[in-house]
Amino acid sequence: MATATATDPALDVLRRVFGYDAFRGEQAAVIDTVVNGGDALVLMPTGGGKSLCYQIPALVRPGTGVVVSPLIALMQDQVDALAALGVRAAFLNSTLSSEDRRAVERALVAGELDLLYVAPEGLRSRATLDLLDRTPIALFAIDEAHCVSQWGHDFRPDYLELSVLHQRWPSVPRIALTATATAATRAEIAQRLDLEGARHFVSSFDRPNITYRIVPKDRPDKQLLDLLRTEHAGEAGIVYCLSRASVERTAATLVENGIQALPYHAGLPASVRAANQSRFLREDGLVMVATIAFGMGIDKPDVRFVAHLDLPKSVEGYYQETGRAGRDGLPSTAWLAYGLADVVQQRKLIETSDGDAAHRRNLGRHLDAMLALCETVECRRAQLLAYFGQEHPGACGTCDTCLAPPEAWDGTVAAQKVLSTVFRLDRERGQRFGVGQVVDILLGRDTEKVRRFRHQELSVFGVGDDLSENEWRAVVRQLLAQGLLTVEGAHGTLVLTAASGEVLARRREVRMRHEPARPVRAAKGRKASAAAELAEADVPLFEALRAWRAGEAKTQGVPAYIVFGDATLRGIATARPGSLERLALVSGVGENKLARYGDAVLAVVAEAG
Ligand code: ADP
Ligand code: ZN
Repeated sequence: MATATATDPALDVLRRVFGYDAFRGEQAAVIDTVVNGGDALVLMPTGGGKSLCYQIPALVRPGTGVVVSPLIALMQDQVDALAALGVRAAFLNSTLSSEDRRAVERALVAGELDLLYVAPEGLRSRATLDLLDRTPIALFAIDEAHCVSQWGHDFRPDYLELSVLHQRWPSVPRIALTATATAATRAEIAQRLDLEGARHFVSSFDRPNITYRIVPKDRPDKQLLDLLRTEHAGEAGIVYCLSRASVERTAATLVENGIQALPYHAGLPASVRAANQSRFLREDGLVMVATIAFGMGIDKPDVRFVAHLDLPKSVEGYYQETGRAGRDGLPSTAWLAYGLADVVQQRKLIETSDGDAAHRRNLGRHLDAMLALCETVECRRAQLLAYFGQEHPGACGTCDTCLAPPEAWDGTVAAQKVLSTVFRLDRERGQRFGVGQVVDILLGRDTEKVRRFRHQELSVFGVGDDLSENEWRAVVRQLLAQGLLTVEGAHGTLVLTAASGEVLARRREVRMRHEPARPVRAAKGRKASAAAELAEADVPLFEALRAWRAGEAKTQGVPAYIVFGDATLRGIATARPGSLERLALVSGVGENKLARYGDAVLAVVAEAG
């Protein structure tokens, strides 16, 4: 690995073009490999700085860097962001008019492009392949490489065809990048993209600026409103819901309560989706309420929170979705409200899903891992990273279980009461019921349904008056999460599992968690917002710079972060540069932006005094 010296061309590009001082993490090693013609497979968390890993080699090596990306709707922004840095970039995809396409092709063949973004389906066309044959290629970058994984959530069949790159251009280096962390996905990418000989770079997947919180779901709309009002007022964020209907309903509720929110789901016309996405990227402080159809490749660096109103189906999904918060490295919140109904619903969805038994078992395993994360009394961050095979010492201090450790209690007897109720209903009566009836029986409630089925005659009737209804629901939830109970059929009736018998026979202890009495807020002095951690005296200048940036972005019709990111504005507000030389020292101020915005920024600083 080359050490970074001032004469290193890669470091020179980093400083001159991007305005950054030093490479982060594995960037230097990855870039060195690709600059020298080697293949690389890069796993880095969102916000880790993957783009520089192919952009810099494309600028250093002769020829054009070809970037394969599935994110057609974002290519224009990516090209605009590069243009703002003075990098010559263009894209080829189905949205271009034939005239624009010809202009891009001409520029490419004339050697006038540093980077060319293409959609994967484009590489299936003879015309595009022939076009690339006529130009020197610096490298192929395969972004969002996990799209090649057939079992993953973002599978794109066109990605399977990308092995053509290696066959057709064996001497051009390839770099595949993803934020999907599991070893299984990595192996699948290497195999399907013919990258087994590539160097693998696996970064730490920790996102230290994200505070993880998983709260018991009680009144989700109110809980969400509390979060947005008390901790993230006026800030950009994403709220994930499972269904289109709940997206619409939640967005409407937020709007009724004075919060600027937009819906996004696959049922909306493409033009509405595109318009909402564009507004989310361009305007400050919008909340996007969306299904998981939204978010991949969204580069917006200042998403301050990601909230889940429904349980994600897997830890991978949860990590990807929450990872969209805080790409700029500033404090951010990942918040999930989770309850019994989520577990029942997810188990039902798996049971009624298409596919064979092996597929359902696979879905079940994913859900189990997600439930284990929800129910843990240990550090969430440590458990999340352990899932991806990475060690963390725990006690991170910025997840809810570290901020307010939940108590564990011996739930064996409570578990036995629930399980024997289910057992008796089934064995003595041949009946199956859902959670509601089981809890009513335990509490000895005199309801019409209890009388109709003569459940007051069961020996377990009323044995549960030591716990409240909510506590019983939490017990059932944890039994479902631990696989000691499961649900069947469209009504979600409770049934025993193979492991239930061990608890009933007193051969197994059941540990449960008490929910902390008060909801956890972000740690003191760590408020997750863009102005956080700025000295109070610098906040007015920071806000003035933001206002200037908003005007500039609007005039140009580009997202604000393309002008300057929040982290750079904070750097300027702290440094208060009085000259262009000083301004150039701030991280994120490269040559091109200095020339373009330098005087205007200095004027804002001078005016703020
Ligand atoms: P990823 O694609 O891995 O999610 P990005 O490439 O979008 O991450 O980078 C995330 C943010 O970090 C961007 O704002 C980027 O400009 C910034 N960044 C990347 N590398 C560096 C670096 N070496 N120094 C400072 N900032 C960096
Ligand atoms: Zn923790």
